[in-house]
Amino acid sequence: MSFDLNTKEFVIIGPCSLESWEQMAPIAQLADKYQVPYLRTPLFKPRTHPDSFQGLGAEGLNILKQIRTNYPDLKFVAEVGSLEQLLIVRESVEMIQIGARNMQNFELLKSIGQNYQNQFVMLKRGWGNNLKEWLASAQYLVNYGVDAKKIILCERGTRNACAPAQVTLDFALALKAKQMSHFHVIIDPSHGTSDRSMVLPMAEVATALNFDGLMIECHPYPNESYSDAHQALGLEELEIFLGQNLMLRQTAAYDETAPQLKIINKNFDDFDNRHA
Ligand code: PEP
Ligand code: MN
Repeated sequence: MSFDLNTKEFVIIGPCSLESWEQMAPIAQLADKYQVPYLRTPLFKPRTHPDSFQGLGAEGLNILKQIRTNYPDLKFVAEVGSLEQLLIVRESVEMIQIGARNMQNFELLKSIGQNYQNQFVMLKRGWGNNLKEWLASAQYLVNYGVDAKKIILCERGTRNACAPAQVTLDFALALKAKQMSHFHVIIDPSHGTSDRSMVLPMAEVATALNFDGLMIECHPYPNESYSDAHQALGLEELEIFLGQNLMLRQTAAYDETAPQLKIINKNFDDFDNRHA
């Protein structure tokens, strides 16, 4: 079965961590070929262990410039964990990612609100956070100045000891987030399965459920990835998926007739009453 990703505004592909121009060039070329609008370009990596690769940091900005020169149509997404990191990448990327670990870092949410108002901000759901907490964190961004139309919620799975790789992608929760807010909602089947063999099947489910996009990790040599090698897709495999699902297309415009973006307070309160 194939699904038409034509109308999906927020399809993002790229590596877990930006490592080198040699790593990025074939990924950028693939994105460009299929008009995938966004490329993951993570310069700062939050890692569980301090000895693990932490990202190239500011040194990677030159690689971003090189990609920009060669592929001017691609837009970049990078995670930040502090105001300092935001100020380093702010002028070089079109979308800032707030990772699962920082979903409730309220001071970070405030400083992103104050310093990155008119650009896209992706807010990943913490793996132990519920819908109410997720929407409330998005509301921090709105209250501190981010244009609500530019907020993208990203479902990346919940910790679950029973699940393969201890993570369960929660489509129902993500669908509820769409019902209860006017934020864009996308699915990350890479962190949401933590298993290369599960990424594309879950991506197809996400597409069938009509989410606003996908974020998929890939690498030209997946097993050599500096981080998250177990879930990185090879480019040949990803190309088949893109060829089947992502027709060459124009980026869909946001529906300006949608009600003003703000959590629907009444629903939010009802939800609170039912589940508090
Ligand atoms: C990521 O997308 O690079 C990442 C670290 O994911 P998460 O915050 O969902 O763990
Ligand atoms: Mn990763």
